[in-house]
Amino acid sequence: MDVPSQMDFGDRGDGSAEEGQRGFFGIIGSRIGKQRGDAAPNLHTREALLLLQNYEESGQGWFWSTDAKGRLTYITDSVARLMGRTRATLLGTMFTDLFLPADSHGERQRTLPFLLTRQSKFEELPLRSAFEGDDRWWAISGRPQFDGDRFTGYRGSGTDITAQRRSAEDASRLALYDSLTGLANRFNISKKLDTTLAAFSQQQRACAIMLLDLDRFKQVNDTLGHPAGDALLKQVAERLLKIVGDKEMVSRLGGDEFQIILPDVEDRGKLGDMAADIIASLSQPYSVEGSRCIIGASVGVAIAPFDGVSSDDLVRNADLALYAAKGNGRGRFAFYSSDLHQAAEQRRALEDDLRDALARGEMALCYQPVVHAKSNVVTGVEALVRWTHPERGLISPAVFIPIAEEANLIWQLGEWVLRKACEDASRWPGDMRVAVNVSPIQFANADLPKVVANALASTGLAPDRLELEITESVFLGDSAETGRMFKALKALGVRLALDDFGTGYSSLGYLQTAPFDKIKIDQSFVRGATEPESRNSAIIAAIVALAEALEMETTAEGIESLDQLELIRKLNVSHVQGYVYSKPVPDAELREHAEAGSWTIKPAGPARQRNDRFSLFRKVGAIHDNHRYNVVIRNLSATGAFIEGILDVPVGTRFVIDFGEGQLVTATVRRSVKHQQGVEFEQTMVSDGNGGLCTRHRVSPYLIAAAAQQTDSALALPSFTTTSDWKAA
Ligand code: C2E
Ligand code: MG
Ligand code: MG
Repeated sequence: MDVPSQMDFGDRGDGSAEEGQRGFFGIIGSRIGKQRGDAAPNLHTREALLLLQNYEESGQGWFWSTDAKGRLTYITDSVARLMGRTRATLLGTMFTDLFLPADSHGERQRTLPFLLTRQSKFEELPLRSAFEGDDRWWAISGRPQFDGDRFTGYRGSGTDITAQRRSAEDASRLALYDSLTGLANRFNISKKLDTTLAAFSQQQRACAIMLLDLDRFKQVNDTLGHPAGDALLKQVAERLLKIVGDKEMVSRLGGDEFQIILPDVEDRGKLGDMAADIIASLSQPYSVEGSRCIIGASVGVAIAPFDGVSSDDLVRNADLALYAAKGNGRGRFAFYSSDLHQAAEQRRALEDDLRDALARGEMALCYQPVVHAKSNVVTGVEALVRWTHPERGLISPAVFIPIAEEANLIWQLGEWVLRKACEDASRWPGDMRVAVNVSPIQFANADLPKVVANALASTGLAPDRLELEITESVFLGDSAETGRMFKALKALGVRLALDDFGTGYSSLGYLQTAPFDKIKIDQSFVRGATEPESRNSAIIAAIVALAEALEMETTAEGIESLDQLELIRKLNVSHVQGYVYSKPVPDAELREHAEAGSWTIKPAGPARQRNDRFSLFRKVGAIHDNHRYNVVIRNLSATGAFIEGILDVPVGTRFVIDFGEGQLVTATVRRSVKHQQGVEFEQTMVSDGNGGLCTRHRVSPYLIAAAAQQTDSALALPSFTTTSDWKAA
């Protein structure tokens, strides 16, 4: 209702402050009285005044007037009080001082003073209260008043539009922010990335983005319901904000996907640490609606200008890195690199080939002994599947099992493994056990007990010689269904082992309720235990104590060195599986040992765990003076490498090693034997998130472009002179 702005006061009085103090209706009243020549307003006028007074008191609208200089001569008292003042204190102040000079978007609000000096009429001008603690919005209307030609001031009205204003702001918030988490939405963040990248490429600054995808979120949503999924996403957003800090730079793209913009960050050491922090934080248990649940996260990182300068390229490449991180086993991060395009292609090709691999007889099983730690006697073996690809050779199950799970091929493959393992084991002399890995996807299928029973029945293997290895992730699903599955499997008489304990979301809680016969402590956990100051030993001791109390066996996985074995024995772990005893062997070899009677193995291996050097074969460039030599990296650690390819390089020579894609490291030769040199890096390398290493910084494309213009620049030139001081080996 806009009664006041439509009211015509019908006079051109001078509106003095003195009159104002008597009240607006008083003024109108006396004027009307004067015009009519009556001593008192008639009944009709009095009625109108009362109505206006009621209107003023109702708080829906108010009135104001100013003198020719813009000073208040009247204001509705109730409004003055809303502003934390009284009418008396406000009179005489400039009308424009009642309102903020800027609007909510920070644009200067020049309109009101401008209109007032122009002496123009205005209607419904939205203005924000200038008084502290009062965040109301008013729609202000006003008409200039004249005495003849002389401007005498303004009269007008105001209404409270705070509520409309808020809902309009909410609507625009909704268009920019995700209503569930309050984070920026996809539209918002992509606009922000566009503008940031455009500005940064002008200023030659770097900007990283992270794409993040939750692992197993769908499972939580499906089993605990959507409200629980929503509650979980909110907590994820909170944890992300705690790590990233800048609220505006974190967004939820939709579903369980998030994106983070990190302006001016290009250090892959820092980015890797941050990604690892995010993954660790998001992998901590959540409590939603009374249920405990655990999810994980994978992160892909791309950095402008190295990995793209447009937001489209950068996002596409971060996405590819995310895909690679997931393919590497989830719960990981990956940096973009150009060979990921090829890797993604290969993965798709592998998926196709995997469909026919079983039918073409490319799958085989091998068996790794599980040894009693104190007596060195083999008590059982674990069946591990092997795929020999016709062109690509042996492919690790760590690579193809996740593909099989995603491509819906794991059920078929798992059934084949079960049958084959039972068949082989039924032919072994003695009562050696066979353990078979069961994917969580198989475990979630109600037909699993039937398939296990069939495998046992058709091969005649005694049920207690079969052990099913299950990972902790089965506890993420519906606990009632999980319980039923455990019961059904135990009813068959098979043994159950908890595999990979200590990777990620270990909880001792479910050990007490789930009917396990064995806990397998993951190799990463055991490896950490030999490091000084590691608390893993204490935790392993606790697991062993708990397992003993619950009459479960324990197996330490991946034991390679004698010092690890010694530690494991000291901690009373009952069984050991690892290269220190034996690698996985084919069925024929296993049978030879088993037929010779009781099978004991003498442990053998390096005395201690070697520090992690990656053995690899990688062609890189070694740049010295303006020459570039092609060398092969044989062994790489964060601080140095062995290179091959140049003969007789003097100790102390400095090289720049070019790993490609702008990754340059200065290195000094510390050892030199014929065609091999041990070099020490001046800048340590950092983890690439996938067991490999990369340089912290890269040479920016801006620098390369600038250097390319100076023809004598050695590093930037794509080809080098071929004359060399040393001969190629
Ligand atoms: P897992 O069940 O934890 O199996 C143990 C893995 O550790 C095997 O890798 C084994 O070769 C390796 N290993 C054993 N001792 C050592 C050691 O001393 N040092 C090192 N570095 N590694 C050692 P593998 O065969 O590559 O299998 C990897 C994973 O693939 C397995 O981990 C398992 O989760 C999965 N997998 C293997 N076969 C099957 C299968 O038939 N079905 C399913 N669902 N998963 C399988
Ligand atoms: Mg296993
Ligand atoms: Mg394992």
